Amino acid sequence: MAAKNRVVVGLQWGDEGKGKIVDLLARQASIVARFQGGNNAGHTLVVDGKTLVLHLVPSGILHANITCAIGNGVVVDPEVLLKELDALADRGHTIHPKQLLVAEGAHVILPFHRQLDGAREASLGDQKIGTTGRGIGPTYEDKIARRGLRMSIFVDDERRRNHIAALLPEKNRQIENWYGQAPLTIDEIEAWAKPLAARLAPYVTDTPAVLHQATQAGQSILFEGAQGTFLDVDHGTYPYVTSSNTIAGAACAGTGVGPTQIHQVIGVTKAYTTRVGAGPFPSAMTEEEEAKLRKIGGEFGATTGRPRRCGWFDAALVRRAVLLNGATDLALTKLDILSGYPALQICTHYADGCAPTSAEALAKALPVYETVPGWTEDISGVRTWADLPINCQRYVQRIEALVGAPATLLSVGPGRDEVIHRSVL
Ligand code: GDP
Repeated sequence: MAAKNRVVVGLQWGDEGKGKIVDLLARQASIVARFQGGNNAGHTLVVDGKTLVLHLVPSGILHANITCAIGNGVVVDPEVLLKELDALADRGHTIHPKQLLVAEGAHVILPFHRQLDGAREASLGDQKIGTTGRGIGPTYEDKIARRGLRMSIFVDDERRRNHIAALLPEKNRQIENWYGQAPLTIDEIEAWAKPLAARLAPYVTDTPAVLHQATQAGQSILFEGAQGTFLDVDHGTYPYVTSSNTIAGAACAGTGVGPTQIHQVIGVTKAYTTRVGAGPFPSAMTEEEEAKLRKIGGEFGATTGRPRRCGWFDAALVRRAVLLNGATDLALTKLDILSGYPALQICTHYADGCAPTSAEALAKALPVYETVPGWTEDISGVRTWADLPINCQRYVQRIEALVGAPATLLSVGPGRDEVIHRSVL
């Protein structure tokens, strides 16, 4: 069979349930590769009834015959990565370096990145962006400024020490003079870095070469996106965005695989909308409706535990996301959560032709709603399209028509098998 390389991305503001979809589709791939973001992502997997939250390791890691790759577009906190590997080992999944490849070109999150992230966000007060404070933004800043520390240097003791020593005076000036915090010493950082580097070194490799070989050998790659389309640094609701490109196109730059090698783009979207962090949210519900949906849907961040803001399905937003990603398919998640609503609202468009182009545009957007009938049946046990209540089918079809892509996967529960395949993906 010819290779089928697929990208899985979120079409909203993240937390769409990508982890589950990747885990599901990973079974058909030889390699699962992450291409952007860092440990600000949170993928919740439920396997054999047990919950496991991964922040950095690609979701396919639980399949013994799959190689996972952390691409050059990802920023890696070595401490977090090794903690995840330890947590997996504790659950009986010891990860061999052949099973997890870390790109030589991936940039490393260092202690001063974390410190600066937290200090900066705190100093912004009301203006804060809502970052997770894990040093991801400052690490991407150093990458773009061409002074970042890449994995290949991190695992080389002499070069790492020299590189960090060269960066440190400027970082300390900011930490001390601007934020009034205690400076870091090179010895402190080295005491942290050296043992981590020694453990990580066997995993660090030329990941593009491995991906090219796999493609040439007819093996399939699944590219796993983190966050969501409207958190993309270029196309999202800037400045309330993450520091990387989250759209499907970034799979190429973030791993070193060319665009002609991508065959399918699966956009994951919830059957409603949620958002964590600051920024405009046109289809937000009333407080009462939000509290209800948040409770039923368990809408609290996997990484931070922050309550998510909840809203009705926003077709104007997802329609644009389908185009930004070139999505060929939708995976519609959490459909089960909407069971029991007598009626559902869908935002079909914004008044006056307003489009979700920026934070300013969204702040002014006035959602226009269509009310559709809901369904009362519990659908979590349904496995075929024909067995879904007719109003649920109509809800899905209306969404497909509004956003312009077929919902080939419907998710009706957190478990791996709680899914309806509408065509063979
Ligand atoms: P991700 O970052 O996009 O992978 O999303 P999260 O893991 O933060 O959020 C998805 C949450 O919803 C997790 O707790 C999943 O187990 C859960 N989930 C995923 N799909 C479904 C679904 O179809 N129904 C229900 N009830 N829960 C789901």
